[in-house]
Amino acid sequence: MKKEMLYEGKAKKVYATEDPEVLIVSYKDDATAFNGLKKGTIVGKGAINNRMTNYLMKKLEEEGVPTHFIRELNDTETEVKKVTIVPLEVIVRNIAAGSLSKRLGLPEGTKLKKTVLEYSYKDDALGDPMVNDYHIFAMDLATPEELNLIAKYANMVNDYLSKFLLECGIVLVDFKIEFGKTSDGTIILADEISPDTCRFWDAKTGEKLDKDRFRRDLGNVEGAYAEVFKRIMG
Ligand code: ADP
Ligand code: UDP
Repeated sequence: MKKEMLYEGKAKKVYATEDPEVLIVSYKDDATAFNGLKKGTIVGKGAINNRMTNYLMKKLEEEGVPTHFIRELNDTETEVKKVTIVPLEVIVRNIAAGSLSKRLGLPEGTKLKKTVLEYSYKDDALGDPMVNDYHIFAMDLATPEELNLIAKYANMVNDYLSKFLLECGIVLVDFKIEFGKTSDGTIILADEISPDTCRFWDAKTGEKLDKDRFRRDLGNVEGAYAEVFKRIMG
């Protein structure tokens, strides 16, 4: 049972439950980009992101990546294990796009010879600045052991999702994930895996099937979310 709302973010609300170790996340249709500067609604997004995240997290659990998923309650709400979020956006890149393309002058679509792992310090006021392992240890955002595990899990997520999505006709260009610590200190995958947080390109045409359609005003945003959902969930 949902109790008080603990937090309302840009894409989800988080509620307490009777169990102090369990939260309910409620996915919204609200969309934001550029650190909240651009706002809009993507009709049906909440349900798509909720169900897709849960489906993929269940698969990742089977692959040996521990996740916060407990059970889906309805189209937009899910019970998850409560964690203290490690304040890092963990970004994995297979192909240059977005901020990497801008920063390094690599044309979008350039295949990276080696997968790139990046960390951003989760702080909206600072604009989520990129940090490296030295910053992370200096600021005590994670211990070396925790960061090792986070990197290992991030690579496992990438390996599994890249292969699985390609079978669905989707290229996994890049994505952002978050990790958290349970009350006993275990590191698990938290938050979401959805077209809001991943770049998905059609394997044949290269068409963008993710939030870049909203960020860049490319049109047919709802259609792209629905297409990815259909290909992944059947
Ligand atoms: P934002 O905070 O960037 O606006 P959201 O709207 O997605 O993002 O809000 C969801 C919040 O819940 C995020 O801050 C995320 O880090 C946090 N969160 C995700 N999973 C868990 C969890 N299992 N336990 C605690 N917090 C979580
Ligand atoms: N991303 C995200 N949340 C953020 C920043 C990035 O989910 O706050 C995802 C984004 O959807 C993309 C990947 O992380 O799949 C890399 O994003 P990038 O750094 O290129 O940032 P952007 O171009 O979105 O500014």
